[in-house]
Amino acid sequence: MSRHCRFCHTPLTHTFADLGLSPLSNSYVRAERLNQGEMFYPLHAWVCPSCKLVQLEEFERAENIFNDEYAYFSSYSSSWLAHARQYSEAMTARFGLNAASQVVEIASNDGYLLQNFVAAGIPALGVEPTANTAAVAIGKGIPTWVKFFGVATAHELVTAGHAADLLLGNNVLAHVPDINDFVGGLKVALKQGGVITMEFPHLLNLIRHNQFDTIYHEHFSYLSLLAVERIFAHHGLTLFDVQELPTHGGSLRIFAQHANGPHATQPGLQAVRDKEAADGLDELDIYARFAAQVDETKRALLRFLIDAKEQGLRVRGRLRCAGQGQHPAELLRRAHRPDRLHRGRQPAQTGNLAAWHAYSGVRPGKTA
Ligand SMILES: [Zn+2]
Repeated sequence: MSRHCRFCHTPLTHTFADLGLSPLSNSYVRAERLNQGEMFYPLHAWVCPSCKLVQLEEFERAENIFNDEYAYFSSYSSSWLAHARQYSEAMTARFGLNAASQVVEIASNDGYLLQNFVAAGIPALGVEPTANTAAVAIGKGIPTWVKFFGVATAHELVTAGHAADLLLGNNVLAHVPDINDFVGGLKVALKQGGVITMEFPHLLNLIRHNQFDTIYHEHFSYLSLLAVERIFAHHGLTLFDVQELPTHGGSLRIFAQHANGPHATQPGLQAVRDKEAADGLDELDIYARFAAQVDETKRALLRFLIDAKEQGLRVRGRLRCAGQGQHPAELLRRAHRPDRLHRGRQPAQTGNLAAWHAYSGVRPGKTA
């Protein structure tokens, strides 16, 4: 089977991390179905030798992942709500947003962010593919279109008079299978003089801190500034600022505008470019070293678990489950038989078991 880069169509031949087979991390198993089979898919990240975009193959349609049973409601995280409020205030001040402006958020979820603009009297519109989260937003008085975003939706927005002065997406760029249709849509939906901001986990931190547990099926791309700048430039969009954020293990917030737009380039952009260049993100070596490091970590953990088992020890761990789909490495799931069940705080988890809970035998949350 041939695989090609989702941005530049170069054949993918260089492994970034091969995590074997895994179930979808946000697919929940009902307790009564615990003894039935479950679908496992390859979890293999590649780096494009040409544009250096790190990516998974798309094997499950996004429509089947981000559907009505989609589990994640943004407003259930208080730290994320605070992050969204600070962002809204900062953008309003910096870009002079007011009652004549239009804010559009892609993947607006339950209105966790746009509620700040609505409260400030700034027109805001959400575009959100999952109907259950969108319904919560609409209930809060936040206009929301239940749609996937791309070039076609962007044209509909413009036709309906919603071309954006501020067009934003938090943790969505990494989740889109057709990144060209998505960024092409950003270009269409952005008003002349408008600003795009996107936040995504920074590949540099994934590599530096061995965060291979952030690789999961819903997360199609692992983004560096280098690759994102190439993709945006291809679609006629220019970056003019970058901020580094502590969220999701270290994220970037990029600021973009139409090529030759009015906003002056800020020093943050060059600072992150320099950081990535110093670590060699435009060379293939660093990606090959990471692939080897993941294999080493896997062998060391398996060795530890086998030794502990043979000594009659019980292993308990703490799982990060604050964000969408975050789960431990697939080997943890397979190293244990289920012996603990957990019900989470997210509504869709009630009565269901996250796939990784069922397999891990490791109880999420605080250790006793
Ligand atoms: Zn490529």
